[in-house]
Amino acid sequence: MRRDIRIAVIGAGLGGMTTAGLLQRAGFKVQVFEQAAAFSRIGAGIHLSPNVMKVMRRLGIETTLTDIGLHPDAFVSRKWDTGEVLFELPFHPQNEAHFGAAYINVHRGDLHQVLESALDHGTVAFGHKLRAMEERHGIVHLAFENGAKAEADLVIGADGVNSRVREYLLGTEKPRYSGHVAHRAVFPAALLNGLPIRACTKWWGEGSHILVYYMTQAREEVYVVSSVPHREWTSPQSFLPCDRDAFIAAFDGYHPELQQVVAAAPEVTMWPVFDREPVDCWSRGNVVLLGDACHPLRPYMASGAAMAIEDGAVLARCLADIGHDDPATAFSWYAANRMPRTNKVQRISVANTWFRGPTDPDWLFCYDACAVPLLAPQEA
Ligand code: FAD
Repeated sequence: MRRDIRIAVIGAGLGGMTTAGLLQRAGFKVQVFEQAAAFSRIGAGIHLSPNVMKVMRRLGIETTLTDIGLHPDAFVSRKWDTGEVLFELPFHPQNEAHFGAAYINVHRGDLHQVLESALDHGTVAFGHKLRAMEERHGIVHLAFENGAKAEADLVIGADGVNSRVREYLLGTEKPRYSGHVAHRAVFPAALLNGLPIRACTKWWGEGSHILVYYMTQAREEVYVVSSVPHREWTSPQSFLPCDRDAFIAAFDGYHPELQQVVAAAPEVTMWPVFDREPVDCWSRGNVVLLGDACHPLRPYMASGAAMAIEDGAVLARCLADIGHDDPATAFSWYAANRMPRTNKVQRISVANTWFRGPTDPDWLFCYDACAVPLLAPQEA
């Protein structure tokens, strides 16, 4: 693709930021439009698995992240009541070498900040919520709620589970509520009163689960994130505060060690878990989707952001190297190379079986989105 085309990315989430950074490295001009007025440091952690860290390497920020992130010694699955270890995947240097990168936990706010440092200054236009778009004669016209307008030769919809760009491509359809909410809490490790926790532990209950991990190398902050049945979600908000007693009650009967962690959380929020059925159309004309905009996943493999980031890496390669000046060809390679993998992650996430028992993670962690050979659509 010619490097002087104008590319607009809608959404400065993890997928949009990664894509913009990689496209700029390939010599493209990119502007990111984000609805929020600024990045906010929401209280949440994130796992960055080796497949993600390999993309971060291409953005030049792998070392910064490994310096600030926590390196768990293992991912440990434990039975909710007895605490029996069901599976343990160690992250020692031999495994890191095998996967090709480290597995780390970081605060999402820190990750965003580091990603922003990988972009050209002024790339993100904040306060720009996309309202409408239209493609005429190969140019996409964008209109924002703040009254601003813009034109682009290519538009990448990285605007998340309630994507406006997806609506433009596929029509309006609400995401599917899974019947579960995720509790999230971040609090000082000092509140555990000396209780030692393994760096990254998932407690598996009957129909519910909860993960506990430290978020920084200093181990001064603990993050918990759960999945608990919750009949309906009617609020338009993406999260709500959660009553602390209700949160504690949700883990009644769990192992005393876990109950002590849960009881230490001073403030808790509650997030609805949504997903969508897979679709086989991710683009039309000069507009393409990535990440949650095309395949929102339940967060039970901790791979939603990972898939958005990998999508960005493969899309950037397709635009740089495939189809000459024909976006349709580049987009068809991109979708053909990504859909089998995102569909597989979606199936496992819905089943919620990842790491529940002995699991071979090679197909997920050894993948390098920046180097994997790209297959032609008829071969993929
Ligand atoms: P988003 O991160 O949602 O970004 C979309 C961006 O677009 C936002 O900044 C939004 O403000 C902006 N936007 C939306 N609409 C507009 C508009 N009209 N105009 C302009 N901007 C707009 N994934 C992992 O890989 N590891 C984990 O450990 C993990 N844990 C999770 C825990 C929970 C509880 C949940 C709910 C999810 C978790 N995920 C995890 C999944 C992950 O958060 C998402 O899959 C990921 O953020 C998707 O990235 P994205 O860039 O596609 O979309």
